Amino acid sequence: MQLIDTHVMMESLSLQDLEAMSASGVKALIADAAGGMDYATSAQASINYFEHTLVGETKRASDYFIDVYVILGINMMAIPADYEKILDALPEYLKREKVVGVGEIGMEPKSGTCPDLSKQEEILKAELRMAKEHNKAAVLHLPSAERTGWIERYIKLIDDAGLDRGKAIIVHSDASTTKIITEAGCMAGLSVLPMRRITPEDAAKIVAENDMNRILVSSDNRIRHRSDPLSVPRIAVQMRRLGLSEADVEKVLFDNPNKVFNLGI
Ligand SMILES: [Zn+2]
Repeated sequence: MQLIDTHVMMESLSLQDLEAMSASGVKALIADAAGGMDYATSAQASINYFEHTLVGETKRASDYFIDVYVILGINMMAIPADYEKILDALPEYLKREKVVGVGEIGMEPKSGTCPDLSKQEEILKAELRMAKEHNKAAVLHLPSAERTGWIERYIKLIDDAGLDRGKAIIVHSDASTTKIITEAGCMAGLSVLPMRRITPEDAAKIVAENDMNRILVSSDNRIRHRSDPLSVPRIAVQMRRLGLSEADVEKVLFDNPNKVFNLGI
């Protein structure tokens, strides 16, 4: 069995974590080079972090036979004053081998660096247009309050950018929002995190009750919150416990991300 963890911040994964993931069947990771930043000193700091993820982290994981693919952009929690320099650099980054999307991007009223939602929307629009131009996926952050309203707002922005809804992954979905997202034709991302109150059992249950063709799962492994690098293998176990087939496990935990991020593995 091969698995893909669709959202991790690489700096949170120790060599022991990578070894345990590899031993548990994790074949590839989608590394978030935007969400890894919880501060925003400058555009250059963000760009340095893109490079570090693309070069250093792919090499570190390859020692454990794990392929790292990268999403990048401007995370709404970490918008530096000179963010336009990142927007200018993004088209070149989207051409880089291993870059499979923009993300984690989106809007968040609680952003400490840029609470101005109209500015956040302007940045998001530019990034969605770039995803469309470069035929890449877009990973969008769903705020924790007024979730239905945010989903509607995102879908409008996705459509306005001309991006295929099937290339848009709305993450931090839960039992109440997954159906809304998948019925709209977007991909719902389940982040297994105590802070999101989603366990591997919850994720397996949500998968079983919804359109399995439109769900991705991740550990959302990060330094700032408690997380578990083995969340995705644990979801596989829970899916089997619910009586789902190996084909279903493979579809959700491998085929879906392979397809939406166009990994070709
Ligand atoms: Zn998020």
